[in-house]
Amino acid sequence: MGFVSLGCPKALVDSERILTQLRSEGYEVSPTYEAADVVVVNTCGFIDAAVDESLDAIGEALEQNGRVIVTGCLGARPERILERHPRVLKVTGPHAYEEVVGAVHEHLPPRHEPFIDLLPPQGVRLTPRHYAYLKISEGCNNRCSFCIIPAMRGDLVSRPITEVMREAERLVRAGVKELLVISQDTSAYGADLRYAPGEWRGQRYESRFIDLARALGELGVWVRLHYVYPYPHVDKVIPLMAERRVLPYLDIPFQHGSPSVLKRMRRPAHSVDTLARVHAWRKACPDLTLRSTFIVGFPGETEAEFAELLAWLDEAQLDRVGCFKYSPVEGAAANTLAAHVPPEVQEERYARFMQRAAQISARRLAARVGRQLQVLVDTVEGGSAIGRSEADAPQIDGVVRIEAAGTLREGDWAQVQVTGADAYDLTGRLAPADGTRRPVTTAR
Ligand code: SF4
Repeated sequence: MGFVSLGCPKALVDSERILTQLRSEGYEVSPTYEAADVVVVNTCGFIDAAVDESLDAIGEALEQNGRVIVTGCLGARPERILERHPRVLKVTGPHAYEEVVGAVHEHLPPRHEPFIDLLPPQGVRLTPRHYAYLKISEGCNNRCSFCIIPAMRGDLVSRPITEVMREAERLVRAGVKELLVISQDTSAYGADLRYAPGEWRGQRYESRFIDLARALGELGVWVRLHYVYPYPHVDKVIPLMAERRVLPYLDIPFQHGSPSVLKRMRRPAHSVDTLARVHAWRKACPDLTLRSTFIVGFPGETEAEFAELLAWLDEAQLDRVGCFKYSPVEGAAANTLAAHVPPEVQEERYARFMQRAAQISARRLAARVGRQLQVLVDTVEGGSAIGRSEADAPQIDGVVRIEAAGTLREGDWAQVQVTGADAYDLTGRLAPADGTRRPVTTAR
């Protein structure tokens, strides 16, 4: 069986689950199209570029193999797929694990395999062994005007806390050192379950954001929170960060700094004074790293609103920032808003925004030179290593380059003395231990 996984970390988790199930039934994953009897393509349908990429991937699999099953976000709109690729065997939607597995059974019946229970207990993961995504819910109750995820994935459906914690524990037992908590709206976790209580390690926890952070903080690994919104109850997690129960890191998609644009975007918590919140968080936890994404050139964005965004960014001093130029997504409410911003203006604002963000990032990273940081090593090559500090999420943030990596291996902890910084990354060397320069690995 061949498997092509596209899209965001949430889609990656779907792929992992499908692969876990199929591997547990004895299916082999083939690295080439030619060696596969059937190919599953997990698609993304978030923006038009992702739709094109998904349609191309399906076309390639059909050309190279001929027997293709499609799943994922784009599968929620099967007509888009079938109109271009009528030969696909089956189309299923997002998080339709059983349906995909059923389609594989139908087109490639499982072989009896006496050793299926040799499957590692954590299942099959597509991330390196030392970190894993932990999906706590599906769907979203918000209705941001630029987004069609709720239409594709439905309203919020949270996993009960006991189930999430069992999975987290399994992953940690299997060697995971960093858990990345993901969902569409992590701070809303459990609202659909009315915060139903559960039990884990003999303690009562509710299925709610703060209890989840507390419970995950008991696992003794790095816990990184993604897609959190600045609701007032998020304040409660900051003391856990100051105590390093969870990483002092918050990924909050602010999207804009102008209240009027945020209102047009119909963002959750758009009326909250986010700057006051950011200042209070930093006071309580000075090492807090804040990452965010923004959209520039949203319909109707005036030069004055854009200037508000730049001023907001200057004051918020975010550590990590990503930015998109607004592009209409088929079916999104924002498409009907008046005064779309011309592409050349979007381009110009994007460049100004990124330049400002890079200056802030460079200044904040320069302040780390001379400090010692704990680093988790991702790769080792040619005598040097690339790792991440608590301020860096994999794939989206910067890295720490370690010169003369010695005996370090992927997944090791290292204490690193920071010697240099550029706009996004740090450079360092292994911190001397007992007067000698050698790797220090620690169990946190
Ligand atoms: S919070 Fe907004 S942008 Fe995020 S998934 Fe929900 S509707 Fe989409």
